[in-house]
Amino acid sequence: MARSKNITQFCAYCNKETKMARVGAMEVTENGEKDAVGNKVWYKCSRCHHNILFDETELNSLKDSAEIKSLSKEECIEYSPENSYSVGQAIYHENLDDVGWVKDKKIMSDGRSAIIVAFQKLGERKLIDNFRPEDTVLPDE
Ligand SMILES: [Zn+2]
Repeated sequence: MARSKNITQFCAYCNKETKMARVGAMEVTENGEKDAVGNKVWYKCSRCHHNILFDETELNSLKDSAEIKSLSKEECIEYSPENSYSVGQAIYHENLDDVGWVKDKKIMSDGRSAIIVAFQKLGERKLIDNFRPEDTVLPDE
């Protein structure tokens, strides 16, 4: 496994989210039982160059969203491109059959707005927000 692994994590030294490079694993063997304690891995902050220890088991479970808790469809607003969403809203995407939280809103290069949704099963997806049909040139109609 030669691929380098970079993550974006909150750096306590920089007091912000920074890019971090995987430095190496440190196996924690409390009580001699590997599987119970997870995988502690050192990451180096690309900004301040501090080494920070993360639990990769935790990172993987948190990867999609720091705030994902169990979410049911009933708690979600059904996603539709025409609607506008705000950060923190829970949405249900019918085609993807997944629920998630709106993590971020962005203006795309073409000026349209998009939302970044952290889906529970699928991970992060970018979706169209506040879609206006008149923004698009349609062949007929
Ligand atoms: Zn840092």
